[in-house]
Amino acid sequence: EKFKDGLEKTRSSFSFKVNDLLKRYRKVDEEFFEELEEILIGADVGVHTVLDIIDELKDVARTRNIKDPQELRSAITEKLAEMLQKDDSENKLNLQADGMTVILFVGVNGVGKTTTIGKLAHQLKNDGKKVILAAGDTFRAGAIDQLEVWGERAGVDVIKHHEGADPAAVIYDSIQAAKSRKADVLLCDTAGRLQNKVNLMNELSKVKRVIEREIPGAPHEVLLVVDATTGQNAMNQAKTFGQSTDVTGLVLTKLDGTAKGGIVLAIRHELDIPVKFVGLGEKIDDLQEFDPEQFVYGLFA
Ligand code: GDP
Repeated sequence: EKFKDGLEKTRSSFSFKVNDLLKRYRKVDEEFFEELEEILIGADVGVHTVLDIIDELKDVARTRNIKDPQELRSAITEKLAEMLQKDDSENKLNLQADGMTVILFVGVNGVGKTTTIGKLAHQLKNDGKKVILAAGDTFRAGAIDQLEVWGERAGVDVIKHHEGADPAAVIYDSIQAAKSRKADVLLCDTAGRLQNKVNLMNELSKVKRVIEREIPGAPHEVLLVVDATTGQNAMNQAKTFGQSTDVTGLVLTKLDGTAKGGIVLAIRHELDIPVKFVGLGEKIDDLQEFDPEQFVYGLFA
């Protein structure tokens, strides 16, 4: 249901057109595939990904001898779901059964990083976990206060220094606090200014090294947050961050506000990074674990 509501905008541009296409054509032919290609590109699926999808669908049509467009419908949803998930457990958050789980959040300012941390803290707390937030974005004015607001909403502690402090020092203190308070999960915010990419990437590696040194095996996830409404820009950010930090998963925010939900397919297919969560609104409950089948169902429902 959440996916259905959150994907309203993408669905109206995508599902409507696909359904119309399936009705209008009497048989599956070259022209049919050309129109399908246009619809997918229009939903921001990305040209490379679209061409691969179309090739595979042509294959399916040929091998199963499908002539009636309606019969191709289930093949389309199957293919899309397949593209969103390369292995069964990839969308699950890597939570440690024993000991503390450390999750590092990276991403450009404004994409919804702080909001996502707040939402996830709320979910984990509801699952009975003790959660602590680390205010590692010491650069952006207001970032620390904003994280504290989310900490209050979720009912979890926030470890902070003052604005301008060394992020690595904040993360170090947060780890010590999380250890002594026996936290289950430590969620670390980081800065997202892209004006000086080199400095930012150096800062992120330093933060990561502190975590690695203090807790063997950590960070257990490095989640890159991208704003789905920015379409191909989100893809470029994923590439940039992916090159310099070992991103283990993606969070796609603001899917509720865009008709470009197809970007999820493009990112999953073109970069080898699993999608872990999607943001479907501004409220504390509006974060969904990513479920490829539900997602595709949401596109077509
Ligand atoms: P940060 O700079 O990356 O930490 O971004 P913020 O967490 O401050 O979010 C920036 C804006 O995006 C805020 O106004 C949020 O309410 C909004 N936002 C975040 N996630 C979502 C989402 O999933 N859907 C919608 N509609 N808005 C979101």
